[in-house]
Order: sequence, then C-alpha cells, then structure tokens
Amino acid sequence: MPHIQQLESHVADLIAAGEVVERPASVVKELVENAVDAGATAVVVEIQRGGMGLIRLTDNGCGIAAPELPTAFLRHATSKLRTEADLGKIGTLGFRGEALAAISAVSRTDILTRTAAASTGAALHLEGGVPGPVEEAGAPEGTTIIVRDLFYNTPARLKFMKKDTAETAAVNGLMQHLALSHPDISFKFIKDGVEALHTPGDGKLVSAVYAALGREFARGLVAVDGRGGEVAVSGFVTAPLMGRGSRSMQTFFVNGRYIKSQLLTAALEEGYRNQMMKGKFPGCVLSVTVPVTAVDVNVHPAKTVVKFAREHDVFEAVYHTVLDALDADRVPQTTPKAAETGKVRQDFFQTMDVGTFRQRQGTAPAPVPPASRPAPPKSDTPASSGWNTEWKTHAKVADSVPAAAFYQERREMPPRTAPPAFAVASPAAAEVPKPERPFVPAIPLPQAALDLPEQQTIQPPQEAPWRIAGEILHTYIVCEAEDAAVWLIDKHAAHERVNFDRLQAAQEPPMRQTLLQPVAAELGREDAALLLESLPLLEQFGFACEDFGDGTVLVREIPADIDAADTAATLEEIAEDLRTGRSLSERRENLLHTMACKAAIKGGWTSDPAELRVLVDKVQSGEVKYCPHGRPVAVKLTKHELEKMFKRA
Ligand code: ADP
Ligand code: MG
Repeated sequence: MPHIQQLESHVADLIAAGEVVERPASVVKELVENAVDAGATAVVVEIQRGGMGLIRLTDNGCGIAAPELPTAFLRHATSKLRTEADLGKIGTLGFRGEALAAISAVSRTDILTRTAAASTGAALHLEGGVPGPVEEAGAPEGTTIIVRDLFYNTPARLKFMKKDTAETAAVNGLMQHLALSHPDISFKFIKDGVEALHTPGDGKLVSAVYAALGREFARGLVAVDGRGGEVAVSGFVTAPLMGRGSRSMQTFFVNGRYIKSQLLTAALEEGYRNQMMKGKFPGCVLSVTVPVTAVDVNVHPAKTVVKFAREHDVFEAVYHTVLDALDADRVPQTTPKAAETGKVRQDFFQTMDVGTFRQRQGTAPAPVPPASRPAPPKSDTPASSGWNTEWKTHAKVADSVPAAAFYQERREMPPRTAPPAFAVASPAAAEVPKPERPFVPAIPLPQAALDLPEQQTIQPPQEAPWRIAGEILHTYIVCEAEDAAVWLIDKHAAHERVNFDRLQAAQEPPMRQTLLQPVAAELGREDAALLLESLPLLEQFGFACEDFGDGTVLVREIPADIDAADTAATLEEIAEDLRTGRSLSERRENLLHTMACKAAIKGGWTSDPAELRVLVDKVQSGEVKYCPHGRPVAVKLTKHELEKMFKRA
C-alpha cells in the first residue's frame, strides 16, 4: 500500500495551474480580463509562435502598487472579492485570484507596472512561479505582462499542445470575442509581428463588429435592442438571407462575458424559425444583461458557461427581441431566381379559413382571432416578471385587403368589360397619391405580352401607396412604391408565406373538399406505413386517408385549397415530411410548409391582378418578407440604385 501524503505545494500549484491554463488562449483570456477589470481603455496583445514562445500584454489600467506585486501572484490572491457574500454578486471578470499564480507557475513571467499614484514603476520576474525581488523601473501607467516559454516545466502538457497555427487561431478567436464584448476598449492584436485586429474603442458595437468580424459580416446585420423584465438584450443579428453554414458566427455575451450557451442559441434560432433556409444558421453578436444576482458564472473553471436563475425569462427576452428586430427589418435586396412554367390557378381566394367562411355565412360564433406567433418551447422554470407588459411591440400594419374581402368582392362584382390587366395603371383608373409626383402611366404592353385572359378590373379598396406596373416572366410582380422604389415580388414565394402564416394562425382545421373519385396513392410500403401511423395529424391538416393495402393509401378528402390533381404528389411530399421530422412539432412544421407551398400560386401560372394586389399589399405592409424556407419574397431597387445602373447618378 502506498502511503497517503499531502502534495508539496508547488506540485499542487502545477495541478491547479493546469485547470486554469490549458493553452495560450487561456493565458491571453485571463490577462485581458485582468486588464479590463483594471479599467484599461487600450489593450495590446502580442503573441509569437501561437503564444508558446511569447505572450505580451500591455494595458493602460490602474496598475498594481509595488508592495502588492508579489501578493498578486499568490494563489487565491485577489482584489475583487472579500467575503463569501461577494460571491453571489460578481461584477468583475476575474474573482478566483488564481490566474497570475497559475500562469506564472508554468512559464517565465515578467511584469512591469505603475499605478497613477506612484512616481516610478515596479518590475518582477518569476520563474516557474518563484518570484525574484521587486525592482524599481520606469514604466507608463498601467501594466505590461510578458509570458515566455509556456509549459516549459510541464513536459506532459507541452506534448499535448497543438500546432502553433491552431493556437494562433484560438487566440485570434478569443481576441475577437474580447473586442466585441468591450467596444469601449481599443484592442490591438499582433501575431508574429503582424497586426491582426485593431478596434477603435469608440464605444460603438458596430465599429467593433466591423473591425473584428469584417466588412462582409457587418453589412448584413440587423440591430436588436429589447428588454423583458430584468433581461436586456442588445446587439446585432444577421438578416435571414445572410444565413451561414455553421454556428461559428454566433457570439453571446452575458454581462460582458463571452459565453457559450445552448439556451441562447436556441432562443436566437427560434426567432428565425421559418425565415431562414434549412441548414443555414444565423450569426449574431448578442449581449444579454441580467442582474448579477440572476446568473451564476462560477460553474465552469474557464468561465465560458453560465447558469441563469430564470432561464425561461432569458429565452423569452432573446427570442422576442430577435423576432421584433427581424419583423421591423426592411426587405432585402437580392436577385431572385428564374421560375418554372405552369397553368392558371383558379382558386386563389378560396383560401379562407373555416371561421371566416362561417362568419361570412352568418353561422359562425366569432371570427378566428389571428394567432400571432408560435410560442417558444416550454421551460420548466416558472414564467415570471411579466416581460409582456414592458415589451415594445411593433404594431403590424393592418391587413387592408384581407383575402376574404376580395373573395366577397369578386363574387359580388358585376361583370365588366374593362381594359384588360393592370387597369389600375391607366391614367383614368390610377389614383394619384401625391399631386407633386403623379404616377406616370405604364407603357401599354401588347395583350400577347401580358397573356392574361379577359379580366375584371378590381380597384384597390382604398388608395394604396404603390401601384403594380406589371408582371414579368409570369413570376415576378413589378411594383412601384410611393418612395420611388421599384419592387420585384416573387408571387409564389409571397403567396406561400401568406398561406403559411394563415395555416399557422388557424385555430380550426382547414376547409376540406371531398374528392369526386377517391385517389389511390401508391406510395410504397414504407411511406404508406408512415402516413397511416400519422392519420390524426393528417386529419388535422384536412386529409381523410385510409389503408388500401400493399403500400397504397386511399385518399377521400383533401384540403380545399389543394388542387385535386396534386393529391398523390402532395401525399408523397407529406411522407417525406413525416420521415424527416424528428419530433411531432417538426413534422407538423414540415407539413405546414408543404401545405403552404401546394396551396400557393406558382411561378409560371397566369394570375388575376386582384390576386397580385393582395400579395403586393402584404409585402408592402411588411407583413410578408421571407418565404417559409427563408428565401426572399421581394427585391427592392431604389431610385438611386436604378440611376446608378444607368449612370445618371
Ligand atoms: P483575479 O483576477 O481573479 O482577482 P488574478 O490572479 O488574475 O486574480 O489577479 C490577481 C490580482 O492582481 C487581481 O485581483 C488584481 O488586483 C491584480 N491584477 C492582475 N492583473 C492586473 C492588471 N493588468 N492591472 C491591475 N491589476 C491587476
Ligand atoms: Mg484575473
């Protein structure tokens, strides 16, 4: 039996040091945090050979008084914490009093520092944690620490170090995070003699984002700013179209500390639900501020994980802030893709929900209130602190042309022999929104070019601040807005979004149609089994199906707004939705997408101008921005952009 002995203190120190100092990046992190805690406004970090050769940090903070200099390198020596009670309200980045002890234990360290009060500075050299004498030295106010030969006395650790390039990359990432979390501090990072980062420290996050993450990233950002109860959220998120291939551009700070958090990632991504393409992830620089008593930072030695006292509140605050910002964001400017060809859709307006229908028939109890948003995932923590009351809501522009109204209008309208499509653009029909800038009539296109059947002219029910100039490629609506901007709207994408929102908000199952002849969809055993297992779900979506044996499903009823000829194809897609959905809610969501798509007018189809007006209205009011897959619904060209194209500006 070996004897049990207490470890010699320097062995214990080396073990403890290993927990804090894992790699060069952890040294840099600790040193920068000390500089921040010291009130520095400018921090320069220099590394050589990924930090294994040398790490030098210079700050203009408060410095350390000469007599206290050796103390700072003792374990559990800190100026930031005194009592146990202080642990519950940590406001500084450091508090363990371990970093300097740990770093100096596994390296050769030099420190040069001066406080404002001292006339000369003090210097100290430590070798493997063993300090030499404190010496007087000339120094500017602030502190410089140089760490050389990291892990020189811990060969086992040295063996595990990655290539210098990997360490450089880790420090680089860290410096970005540090710079982003402190826009008020100017950070400079020099690696092997080359400046890799330099932020102005002007206090503006956008400047720091620009300097740290690059112009490309900084360009596609949406500012977010909100508060829910005691949780404040601010920063920037990527526009839904600027989705990235990974989560690497998600940066979160909690009370100024860079952290990784699945909770925050989930809340962020929930805000993009149905706005971002599958497989794409939003980027962000999001700062969450909570009272120091509502978060525990002392759960992980590297301090990159925190525990929130009220996770639900934090989730809600982040989710709603992001969602509101995206809602308020303007339609992006991107080039849409070409479309397929198709046929005329006859039942565009027959997409009302049951409630509206019954109401119109005078049989319904009450109209269906439009449900606003999907509720975020439930959490076990009790809901509290009423963010609802404080929340800044974006008043949605009212639906001035509800589909139902058009439906009615269309049915009640006496047949007219009016000029064909886009009569609204003709001088007689056009309302002049502003006398000083009347709309110029569109150049009359030959009927063949429009290729529309004889149509009734439906005037907008009220003066709209836009006009439809035409439709091109049977896919894109061309629209001129009051601010002289030109919009191209993808009619399928817009309609898909309208359908999706309607389906999602619906509180009653959709109207159904009984097929004159039931359709036997041959799907194969696997798909058929999938569908038959999910009959209740299909029922909710308006399908009545039954087993027909041998991998065939018999369909008797389908939703009213799905083309009967599309039945088998729709079911195939639904089977795919069921297969790929990992949870019930994901399967539901997939189905919503399919239903919304199937019920939408397609690019290539000829559309009624009134249909197009409904869509334009939704887009212009800001209600519709992205199709449920995150593709853009509209592209906006400002007058200035056009002028630039034609070299007029
Ligand atoms: P902690 O940061 O957890 O307090 P450290 O070992 O990192 O522990 O630092 C010990 C103490 O040394 C700090 O509490 C602080 O008083 C002082 N110190 C460290 N770095 C600096 C610096 N750059 N400027 C001023 N004081 C510093
Ligand atoms: Mg520290």
